[in-house]
Amino acid sequence: MAKAEKYQPTEKGQAFLDKVKEAKYDRQIINGLKKFLDDRAPADMLNFYSPEEKAALIAIKGTEQDIESRMPVKITRHYYDLAKNSAPLQTLIKASPLETFDMQGAPDPGNQMSYSPIEGLIHKYELGLIYVASTCSAHCRFCYREELIAKKEITREDGTTERKGLAQISELVNYINEHNKVVADNGGRHPETGREKLREILMSGGDPMVLLNKNLAQWFSALADAGIENIRVGTKELAFYPDRFDETFFNMMDDFHAAYPGVRFRMMVHFNHPDEFLQKDDQGNYIDHPDGGLVWVESTQRAVVELASRNWISIENQAPFIKGISNDPDAIRIMQRELKRNRIENHYFFCGRDIIGHKAFNLPIEDAWNLLNDSQKGLSGVEAHARLSITHYLGKTEVVAVTNEPMPGVPGGENGVVIFKLLRGAADAHNKGQVAIVGRNPEAVWFSGYEDRVIYDEAGLFTESMQSTSSIELAS
Ligand code: SF4
Repeated sequence: MAKAEKYQPTEKGQAFLDKVKEAKYDRQIINGLKKFLDDRAPADMLNFYSPEEKAALIAIKGTEQDIESRMPVKITRHYYDLAKNSAPLQTLIKASPLETFDMQGAPDPGNQMSYSPIEGLIHKYELGLIYVASTCSAHCRFCYREELIAKKEITREDGTTERKGLAQISELVNYINEHNKVVADNGGRHPETGREKLREILMSGGDPMVLLNKNLAQWFSALADAGIENIRVGTKELAFYPDRFDETFFNMMDDFHAAYPGVRFRMMVHFNHPDEFLQKDDQGNYIDHPDGGLVWVESTQRAVVELASRNWISIENQAPFIKGISNDPDAIRIMQRELKRNRIENHYFFCGRDIIGHKAFNLPIEDAWNLLNDSQKGLSGVEAHARLSITHYLGKTEVVAVTNEPMPGVPGGENGVVIFKLLRGAADAHNKGQVAIVGRNPEAVWFSGYEDRVIYDEAGLFTESMQSTSSIELAS
């Protein structure tokens, strides 16, 4: 891979960058399983894995089922303190032999190469996604980005095999400038792809919040100078290490806003379960706050209050539904209510994907729909904004409804139907709003589970090769 030239900030960008300050962070990360297996973790963490769990993990070390060659183990002290009293959080963060028990599934979690014009960029909509970091403060066991985080080699469209690389500022800025010029010269649409101007960039990885303020600031000012109007930051740091949202970070953000007042931020946060942000009493119950709502973990609340106090930053939660973590409608109801109370929008819940190493985590599509529907019973309209999304190669798709009764007179609908709707089509969005209706299959975890029972397919979800049905959306 050729090294991109160094990006030269504009005068305005440099003036902003000159003000950025750093702080030191003490995440107290335990990296890898070894410290747990060799009993060298801090004394109070030694029982995090039971003797039986350790024995099972040691037995598969170095075999094809080796857990860490699938996805490195990593946990912060903050998350450990939450997880030690939470079974769902332990499922999220602790390595388990179940992860590699069944490795069937698609090898490329995103089929991303067909939407990746330059290294580290996925350009599918008017929104582009960039990889800017290859790790997070801790690692979710279900992560869909394990090929980036575990530094695996992936096969590219030209057949070569190489590790996935991160986006480089100068190369990305050149791409945005060129794309947007062609779009402007062509009346608002790209003549080949039909895409509009690139006006929004989602910074992802890995987690951008593991970067220094200086690196974040370089990205922000370069994107702003390239004409990007909305910057999204995909992060799970509010769950893994909320103290990262400190004074130096907010000073940098405020200086950025003073220099680029037209640019908006969307913090795409990632909470899977309310145990990640709510305090619990000695009996394990959430605690009523005397002023209403529930008592939050202090450092998380402090960060959310700071983010929410800036009207140029919105906060949106999106998270996959994962077996053993989020399949509890009561917990998901509490989460949606508390997030909305605290100015965090409930954006998407995602279905799992048919990816190698995810059999242990995937909920069937129809179970996921029932989970969301049950969790929203009793919520007010504004609390229940979240939709269930499953991302097709053609674009982001909503699982709109699952009927519980047979549909008389509809061939294939004898056991009820599932209705999908394209929320946004890739490129020019011509097919937004189109639907597909299929007969039910309670076992299906992906579109392929419905291929033999399509009733109506205006959206074309089942006419594309299943080989190419995959997704590029974010877990964080
Ligand atoms: S799911 Fe998101 S936060 Fe979790 S390890 Fe993967 S990229 Fe990091």
